[in-house]
Amino acid sequence: MYLQGQNGLLSTFREGWRTRGTLGIVFALLLIAFYLLMYFEDWFAGRFGIRWFTQIAESAGLSNRWYLYGFLYCVAMIGGGIYYLRRHGNSRYNQLRIATNIGVQVMFGFSLPFFMHLMGQKDFYFSYIWPLKIEYLYPETIAQYPFYIIMYSAVASLLLMPILAITLGKRWYCSWICGCGGLSNTFGDPWRHLTSKSTPSWRFEQVTVHTVMILAVVSTGLVAFDFAIGKDYPAFHAVAFEFRGWYAFVVSAILAGVVGVGLYPLFGPRVWCRNFCPMAAMLGLMQKIGRYRITVKPDMCISCGNCSTYCEMGIDVRSYAQSNQSFTRASCVGCGMCAHMCPRGVLRLENTWNKQKDKTRAGLPIVDF
Ligand code: SF4
Ligand code: SF4
Repeated sequence: MYLQGQNGLLSTFREGWRTRGTLGIVFALLLIAFYLLMYFEDWFAGRFGIRWFTQIAESAGLSNRWYLYGFLYCVAMIGGGIYYLRRHGNSRYNQLRIATNIGVQVMFGFSLPFFMHLMGQKDFYFSYIWPLKIEYLYPETIAQYPFYIIMYSAVASLLLMPILAITLGKRWYCSWICGCGGLSNTFGDPWRHLTSKSTPSWRFEQVTVHTVMILAVVSTGLVAFDFAIGKDYPAFHAVAFEFRGWYAFVVSAILAGVVGVGLYPLFGPRVWCRNFCPMAAMLGLMQKIGRYRITVKPDMCISCGNCSTYCEMGIDVRSYAQSNQSFTRASCVGCGMCAHMCPRGVLRLENTWNKQKDKTRAGLPIVDF
């Protein structure tokens, strides 16, 4: 049964660890504890003398705990990728997408930075770009490593990102390249059905994701302005320094790690991407005006709800299908699972400029669940 492509729905609600039951809560607590101990090890070391991850890393010959984290991240993605492909690997799109995402993570999210460090170079993570890796557009980074950063971060963030998002949608990054999205689609796949499709969760997402995007721009602007005016304004320097510190703590550590991954077993695997990622917010705005859309074949939908159930971004795809409405949602990461799980072949992911008849969410009879 597990080798059949569309068996997911049959087993989704049977397994305790994949529901919000006791096992799911235990799993979430373990993930949260892992992230707290990993991200705030210095704090725990100061108070309780706990440095577990550094000790494990050093005994394995790694220079710090972040390489251990990178290694575990790759293991989680490979294990989760095998799980995912056993369930949904009868689709060429899924095979290519997951293989590419894992390959990018292993190569650019772990191996290359690891070897750069071994060779005495600064370790860059080329699969992450601004604003996701916010410090890559901070002026002092550009000043320190002008070639690397200008060739990669500035070109990728300011040129490639908009062009690709408008022509291909945000899926080129969120479902093929990004490590956060990669972990969601592999290790997080068992919980994808837990993403809420309710209107309050959609409103929450609208506010939070765009707030973080604005904060990322403000933080970058403050740091750039502070760099430009030099050391003559210590009060402004203190504000800029404080702001970027808070951004790193709240967004990069708590929201991306502790909350973003720790809550997979309770709220689905895209908690970070859907609600907090500034990169997803920017790509989403570009996607809305670009070519990407999901087309709906008219009068074919039988309202089974597979598409909505399996949407990791909380989009009620069924409402569009029932209304014979093709659509583009800013939050859609183009994972293709709605089309893959549809027993009637109603949905298709495509790129086209011909979108003028599409309706927005507000014009549809959405059913909350
Ligand atoms: S609408 Fe479909 S393609 Fe978009 S995120 Fe949801 S399941 Fe994936
Ligand atoms: S579009 Fe397909 S998967 Fe979604 S409700 Fe209709 S028949 Fe079911």
